[in-house]
Amino acid sequence: MPARQLPASRNETMKDMDSIIRKLQGCLLRPELLQGTAYPVPQSEGLIKLDAMENPHDLPEALRWKWLDSLSGAMLNRYPDAHPDLLMDQLKLHGEIPPTMGLVLGNGSDELIQILITAVAGTGRPVLAAEPSFAMYSLLAGHLGLPFVGVPLDSDFRLDRTSFIKAMEQCNPSIVFLDWPNNPSGRLFPAEDLEAIVEAAPGLVVVDEAYHAFSRQTFAGHLGHHPNLLLLRTLSKEGLAGLRLGYLAGPRIWTEQLDKLRLPYNINILTQRSALFFLGHSEIFSQQADEIREQRDWLYGKMLDLGIKVWPSRTNFLLFHLPGKAAAVHSGLRERGILIKLFTDHPCLSDHLRVSVGTRQENGAFLAALESLL
Ligand SMILES: *Cc1c(COP(=O)(O)O)cnc(C)c1O
Repeated sequence: MPARQLPASRNETMKDMDSIIRKLQGCLLRPELLQGTAYPVPQSEGLIKLDAMENPHDLPEALRWKWLDSLSGAMLNRYPDAHPDLLMDQLKLHGEIPPTMGLVLGNGSDELIQILITAVAGTGRPVLAAEPSFAMYSLLAGHLGLPFVGVPLDSDFRLDRTSFIKAMEQCNPSIVFLDWPNNPSGRLFPAEDLEAIVEAAPGLVVVDEAYHAFSRQTFAGHLGHHPNLLLLRTLSKEGLAGLRLGYLAGPRIWTEQLDKLRLPYNINILTQRSALFFLGHSEIFSQQADEIREQRDWLYGKMLDLGIKVWPSRTNFLLFHLPGKAAAVHSGLRERGILIKLFTDHPCLSDHLRVSVGTRQENGAFLAALESLL
């Protein structure tokens, strides 16, 4: 280290250090990273939380105790099972994945999206998805240095199969992500369109069924019939967002390659044990999903009655449009203790809001507050 004159104060030392770090970052980090922002997670303490598609129902007390019991033998001094076969078999059984398929487990399905894009990053070929879609596809493509191509949905968030396939022909994507149903519109694109896209795609197609518990539709039966089709699932939306467990299913010849990119102990022992326990009590989550679907349809009807443009949904959330008022309604709801999602950075979603379906009481409170703000 060259000797440098000591700055006058500690504050100046820090400033000096910061400017050296900034210079170093300018040489080492890509401009997209330096200019980008981290995935925004708003403060939600004390609010009715209807912004993140979580299951609003707590565990029944008796089940909570049994769950805690199931964790009691966990050996925290040991690394977790690096390849938990029993858990994978149970996930396949629960998720109706054909038994011959392979799985890759992720710390949330977000991590699997990251693994998938990492795997193809060397090609330089773009990642493609409908626009709008789940934000992590474009975010992670950017992090890993791949271009992202968004193929616009129409003004009613429908997929135009012809223009989608044309876009694939033009930009030769390495991976196409199709969230099915789509987040944030809640739409379930026709299965025939998905099939045509899988057939026409020059690379991988990942069908992301994060909302499978609510749509009750799956592409799982197509696995193994197309060389380029993979399926993504998560336990987050049906009630276990805090566990962080997702899985990617597909022909073993694919999952074996992708599994090389997975960090060996990415699924911790508490998650493994908890997931096994809850897969043995999955009826509680299917009952809750039924109730959420019922509440979703009730809320949809009530919002239509208020004259709001709201889209029919096959998920546990509703997208709606409040031209000229969305930001004010969002902050008005917040003042009344209710947090929902306001879209700010997508041109096609300006003045759109997304509300996750809560409990009966939460939905009632949301609706009353919303009505008072219109
Ligand atoms: C929420 C969501 C995910 C991510 O889920 P995690 O498993 O919690 O990381 C993936 N895809 C879509 C479409 C989602 O809406």
